[in-house]
Amino acid sequence: MKLLDPRTSGPPIPTLPAGPKPSWLRVPSPASMEVVKLRTLFRQAGLHTVCEEAHCPNIGECFGKGTATFMILGNLCTRACPFCDVEHGKPLPPDPDEPSNLAMTVSLMKLSYVVVTSVDRDDLPDGGATQFAKVIQSLRAKCPDVRIEILVPDFRGCPEMALEILGQTPPDLFNHNIETVPRLYRPVRPGADYRHSLNLLSSYHKKHPGVPLKSGIMLGLGEEKEEVLTVLKDLRESGCSMVTIGQYLPPSRDHLPLRRYVSPKEFMEWEQVGRTLGFDSVASGPLVRSSYHAEETSPCLEK
Ligand code: SF4
Repeated sequence: MKLLDPRTSGPPIPTLPAGPKPSWLRVPSPASMEVVKLRTLFRQAGLHTVCEEAHCPNIGECFGKGTATFMILGNLCTRACPFCDVEHGKPLPPDPDEPSNLAMTVSLMKLSYVVVTSVDRDDLPDGGATQFAKVIQSLRAKCPDVRIEILVPDFRGCPEMALEILGQTPPDLFNHNIETVPRLYRPVRPGADYRHSLNLLSSYHKKHPGVPLKSGIMLGLGEEKEEVLTVLKDLRESGCSMVTIGQYLPPSRDHLPLRRYVSPKEFMEWEQVGRTLGFDSVASGPLVRSSYHAEETSPCLEK
């Protein structure tokens, strides 16, 4: 008798054998003068980036082009999702200087587009929404021409309060990642709920139909194609007009195992599927991350 995979409630799926990554996932070393320069700038400003904390494979390219995704509210997450490399633990209270330091840094970097995300802050009554709002206010004041994308956590436990706070200072783009298919939520996002994330997106869309809505999903965790299709349809129904689809890469052997490498051809097929479903923007590729080429993949944000 075959046992079900206890983590996915599905049939057992073979784990990928150890070996070299396929050629399409190999990236040049991130060591460059630009990387060092930005790292120094961020440390001096007391800022964190998800690029560094999550060991994103694109850091050499993004930092090399002078872009980054800021991670506010510290570098310790209150959850421990086994796909993610951000450290978890008991975070510090929000830094009151963070909004102005971030705005100053964006100004120094001469960015025209900025992505701001955060760790999960289940310890805060508003899930960290007030700090997001303060960061947006500081950016609007210091860098009025910069377009702002926020990539928010699920605010589980306080979605109404968080959306109310965020509603007072809307960004140019609202992003919340769905991450995976509902069947895999328990092993991949144990502290989260698929329907809750969809509701967060649709609630925001109802309140702010003029702000483009974006989400993202990782492939390679054991999901079936039909399940991915359902997620894309659910995202469209929730009001998402933009989606990112990328390859899951386990940060270490202790993280959730990789089930398969998705070929560049299949990513192109998903891009076509997304367009057929009516998404205005579909970024689909092995190295695509939520914030990868965020400015170029946001054509609907004319200013
Ligand atoms: S893809 Fe996003 S997280 Fe990765 S390095 Fe680029 S900006 Fe940072």
